[in-house]
Amino acid sequence: MPTEFRNEPLTDFSIEGNAAAMRAAIAKVKGELGREYPLVIAGERISTGDTLKSINPANRSEVVGSFHKATKELANRAVDTAHATFKTWSTTSAAERADILFRIASLLRQRKHEFSALMIHEVSKTWPEADGDTAEAIDFCEFYAHEMLRYAVPQPLTKIDGEDNNLDYIPLGVCVVIPPWNFPLAIMAGMTAAAIVTGNTVVLKPSSDAPAIAFKFFELLEEVGLPPGVVNFLTGSGAEVGDVIVDHPKTRLIAFTGSKEIGLRINERAAKTQDGQLWIKRVIAEMGGKDAIIVADDANLDDAATGIVQSAFGFQGEKCSACSRAIIDAKVYDTILDKVAERTAKIKVGQPTDSATTMSAVINEKAFTTINGYIEKGKSEGGRLIAGGGSDGEQGFFIEPTVIADVKPGATIEQEEIFGPVLAVIKASDYDDALRIANDTEFGLTGAVYSTDEAKLARARREFHVGNLYFNRKCTGAFVGVHPFGGFNMSGTDSKAGGRDYLLLFMQAKLSSAKIGATVSNKADGTSA
Ligand code: NAD
Repeated sequence: MPTEFRNEPLTDFSIEGNAAAMRAAIAKVKGELGREYPLVIAGERISTGDTLKSINPANRSEVVGSFHKATKELANRAVDTAHATFKTWSTTSAAERADILFRIASLLRQRKHEFSALMIHEVSKTWPEADGDTAEAIDFCEFYAHEMLRYAVPQPLTKIDGEDNNLDYIPLGVCVVIPPWNFPLAIMAGMTAAAIVTGNTVVLKPSSDAPAIAFKFFELLEEVGLPPGVVNFLTGSGAEVGDVIVDHPKTRLIAFTGSKEIGLRINERAAKTQDGQLWIKRVIAEMGGKDAIIVADDANLDDAATGIVQSAFGFQGEKCSACSRAIIDAKVYDTILDKVAERTAKIKVGQPTDSATTMSAVINEKAFTTINGYIEKGKSEGGRLIAGGGSDGEQGFFIEPTVIADVKPGATIEQEEIFGPVLAVIKASDYDDALRIANDTEFGLTGAVYSTDEAKLARARREFHVGNLYFNRKCTGAFVGVHPFGGFNMSGTDSKAGGRDYLLLFMQAKLSSAKIGATVSNKADGTSA
């Protein structure tokens, strides 16, 4: 067991040995595409005959895998199974549960390129983006294993004479894990790992756009000996089985990451007490963003332009942390626009299997249509197209990195989450105005400020209301343990994945107090509880 958490290093693909290893992994994964995958409940592999297909977004005729869709009855069975398994799993020691995560992290590390290669095919991640996703999954497993061991030691309590007091963190019950497709390994594995290491059991319902990578992770759980029924693998349409597992009276908590719309729906449904339900369900919801980078007039403009372009177009802008608004002080507006356009022109859009590609296809046809609709909307609302704007949906869902300048505060593309490669550039009259525009959104996930003035940065620290605020660097790229991640307002329930508070969301604290000595006093204690 590693003694201290350290982030998994990212792979340097300019080293030929590393590039060759990735090419070999891509060839191996290619040979395994198109298989059929079952649901797994209590360790039993189940086929329903009704399947959904996961397809390669960059090569739409390529089927990554076919997945049997759960029925309502199977969805209910998955929660019942997790509930039954909770009796035994909740009594395993924290050390044993942490050890499972350490072993998963170790296997993930050994096979990292294979996991990355599958994401390259299933969600069109470029090599470095897929590698980052796999590294983050390793980090989540290791970090939460260490965290569980930290919570398992005697917790500090104020001492009083005559009593021996203990506070233990105990699990909650059945956790429904609902991840998005955009970090289909890291976020899926992170929420699942947090749930099981704290002693909960899980119904894992992966996104229909990325079930193959979730199944590959689930196989690791089986390989390291996680008992059947601790995690149950349930594919199916979110709309059809999602409500069933959220509503089930035996569901104790829901760990969700995805859009604001679905997050709010889950929160609302979970609040309704069902017949036979014994608890108030807990909802951990990490939702969307409308993230902004502010450039002040005293900023290093080259650094700012580079940070904007990296944050806007890394993984096609399909990160919740992606910069979708660049808010620029009028005094440097034209210079920044030139520099952003120049850097955007260098982005190479192509197949994600090609190591030279720096941006690839968006996730699916629906996203392709919606994102193109936002580009049209941006132009029709007075925006000036300064880069991109084109798209090609023939072979895959390719959209050029698109920059729309002169976007007015309050315009549709300045307010709504686009979740694609579209950057709105907004002119601010000064720094006051820039901060006001940045905060004028229902979201509050990430943000960045480029400035060389300490006073401006200090002001942003107080006034820029986002969960993850960065200075003089891009607004994407949070590392587990280093940058605990999660947003405010409509970006979620204010949790911080990869932070020291996170596991508390999956546990409750039980206090036990024992009288030392024979006599028991019943005298009034003067406390409120
Ligand atoms: P989504 O909301 O469409 O889907 C998320 C998950 O919910 C999927 O597994 C989906 O199948 C499931 N789902 C759909 N309907 C459901 C229902 N009725 N009941 C239960 N589950 C249901 O989101 P997405 O397109 O997969 O992901 C993109 C979104 O995720 C963006 O808004 C992005 O900002 C957000 N995101 C947020 C974070 C964060 O940390 N805050 C991280 C990554 C992604």
